Amino acid sequence: MLSKRARALKPSPTLAISAKEKALKAKGLDIAGFGAGEPDFDTPQHIKQAAIDAINKNFTRYTPASGIDELKDAVIEKFKRDNDLSYKRDEVIISCGGKHALFNLFEALFEEGDEVLIPVPYWVSYPPMVELTGAKPVLVETDEKEEYQVTPSLLKRYITRNTKAIILNYPSNPVGSVYFKENLEAIGKIAVENNLYIISDEIYEKLTYDEYEHISIASMDNAFKERTIICHGVSKTYAMTGWRIGFAAGPSEIIKAMANIQSQSTSNPTSISQMAALAALTGPQDFITVMVDEFKKRRDYLIKELTSLEGITCYNPRGAFYVFPNFNAIIGKKYKDKTIDSSTTWTEVLLEDFLTAVVPGIEFGKEGYLRLSFATSMEVIKKGVDRIKKAVGELK
Ligand SMILES: *Cc1c(COP(=O)(O)O)cnc(C)c1O
Repeated sequence: MLSKRARALKPSPTLAISAKEKALKAKGLDIAGFGAGEPDFDTPQHIKQAAIDAINKNFTRYTPASGIDELKDAVIEKFKRDNDLSYKRDEVIISCGGKHALFNLFEALFEEGDEVLIPVPYWVSYPPMVELTGAKPVLVETDEKEEYQVTPSLLKRYITRNTKAIILNYPSNPVGSVYFKENLEAIGKIAVENNLYIISDEIYEKLTYDEYEHISIASMDNAFKERTIICHGVSKTYAMTGWRIGFAAGPSEIIKAMANIQSQSTSNPTSISQMAALAALTGPQDFITVMVDEFKKRRDYLIKELTSLEGITCYNPRGAFYVFPNFNAIIGKKYKDKTIDSSTTWTEVLLEDFLTAVVPGIEFGKEGYLRLSFATSMEVIKKGVDRIKKAVGELK
């Protein structure tokens, strides 16, 4: 018999949908795929070269479990340069992806009896990862009118004696929402007053649009920094999802606990990938601007087209590479004999009848919405948008 923990766990729905999308494509079907949670760009050449050099120099053995010092120093330099944050080596860890850093962090902090605040819509992995530790995810409903930010009054309503932490993800997956300075300030103060940890997932930091500039909550006040763990990585910024390198920074006691967990489970992240990540963080950064400019064009197109549909609204993302349109206006309508009773049915119709892959909003805790990734070519986006328009037109 499998453990209770394993029995309760579902596979990641976003990874499942992109696997289905890839399988249908492999069968020769012309799928317009909006499922991917990864940049469609290739990893820049100088980063790939660093990995090739690492192999040729036989940098292929175990490294320290928490990562090599050179990469930790590059991460420290990144936080100094981008966020004006100072960390020491024992306050940073290199993990096998940002997801792994979060997993180890949750293992290090949470246990039965703890409550963890997760703003909705959330990244799919937060609730199951919290549950694996025995702690309880507490979902905090945010409002589109507030740009999906947790406001101080909202936050206070959910805090109990058992609340241990709040997870902030900005720019966010699935919405692309961010946090304004005044909200971060207020959240930080509430965290201090209530002795909460702040888990700050800043993996999309570099992917922002228009005049918005990312501010890390840890950089606003030393009292905030003392209780914040920043989770980050190279996957999204440098188109390196397959390399599996993430990192975290925070109080040394917590980082040490994460390192212990890592040393007893995965050991070090791949030596070769660590060298590639080092080249990514210390090399030329102009690739990011090129990628962000392209993402912006795609975002603008998607927002214009989707909101031209009657009754459909969509938050204009300030960061990341997703749009999260509100399709509640079509819920209850019929496609042929099928009633569209949920975002999941709508997703099925779009995939099976219109060869368009999207992710249902309910997977992020929000019924009636869809998530579309624009980390795919303009050609695919145009084709997919035309199909969605056609599908909406055929609803009765
Ligand atoms: C992609 C993602 C991560 C982590 O990705 P890794 O590939 O594991 O580094 C973490 N948080 C959010 C919100 C993400 O979208």
